[in-house]
Amino acid sequence: MQRNQSIGYIDAPVPKDLDLKVAVDMLRKAKNAVILAHYYQTGDIQDIADYVGDSLALAQWAAKTKADIIILCGVHFMGETAKILCPDKKVLVPDLNAGCSLADSCPARDFAKFVKQHPDHVVISYVNTTAAVKAMTDVVVTSTNARQIVESFPEDTKIIFGPDRNLGNYINSITGRNMLLWDGACHVHEQFSLEKILNLKKQYPDAEVITHPECKQPIIQVSGFVGSTAALLKHTITSDKKQFIVATESGVIHEMRKKSPDKEFIPAPPNDSTCACNECNFMRLNTIEKLYNCLKFELPEIFVDEEVQKKAIKPIKKMLEISEKLGL
Ligand code: SF4
Repeated sequence: MQRNQSIGYIDAPVPKDLDLKVAVDMLRKAKNAVILAHYYQTGDIQDIADYVGDSLALAQWAAKTKADIIILCGVHFMGETAKILCPDKKVLVPDLNAGCSLADSCPARDFAKFVKQHPDHVVISYVNTTAAVKAMTDVVVTSTNARQIVESFPEDTKIIFGPDRNLGNYINSITGRNMLLWDGACHVHEQFSLEKILNLKKQYPDAEVITHPECKQPIIQVSGFVGSTAALLKHTITSDKKQFIVATESGVIHEMRKKSPDKEFIPAPPNDSTCACNECNFMRLNTIEKLYNCLKFELPEIFVDEEVQKKAIKPIKKMLEISEKLGL
């Protein structure tokens, strides 16, 4: 084995004739491991996972699993969230380099100063944050429950919302709140081109534009439906429409096509691309080969400082409790 933690993953050779699906399945059972995958993972990883979901679902599954090992096929903060919820379990991510531009846009030290400048504010943080930012948060949200959690506070509550300014603006617009926003963003969701989406609309006049709220306001304004990754998926299943222009990370289209094989899904194009879709380069660092090695060698592992874990678990549990009450 070449344990190359410095590059963030195990690069041991995988035999070419190995049936990875079978091999992963055997290892998973032998080690009592559970594989949780985000919708933005590649299709082969989604197909092999025990559960596929958005950030809220991944946290919910991590919180209740009886497995000894959790393999989080997603990005680093998702692994941290699982570790915070399950400090006694081994939590692995196939490639530790799988970061998040949104989480990176909110360094803990700067956020601490911002919070200190507004001591009378409740701090609501999107799940796409580091453990250290969660540790200074009152309640964590995902895009699935952000609106309801914000609305669970009295109208006159002063709120800091971070780190995504687009999601914050969207929640402000639909709730009439005036939350103080941290100026962060996701490089994938900020990339979508309004012009190219409008051109696609001309090409597919019956298609509905469906959009994640991390996108910019002009994209949201031309959308027929706005929602979290899970909400977008649900909408494509229940809607009578047959064609959708999908303005979020294109990985979710794999599940959309599986759930609705009779419908057509067109990835919304980014401003600057050599391909027609918009992929998160962090999410795509995980591969099926890295997943196999991760399970085999039980590396690389996620660790969270104990003091940080004790603080960060409170706002995450609060989110899970509120979500359960709301039936989310
Ligand atoms: S799509 Fe954006 S928010 Fe999601 S993991 Fe990638 S960089 Fe982060």
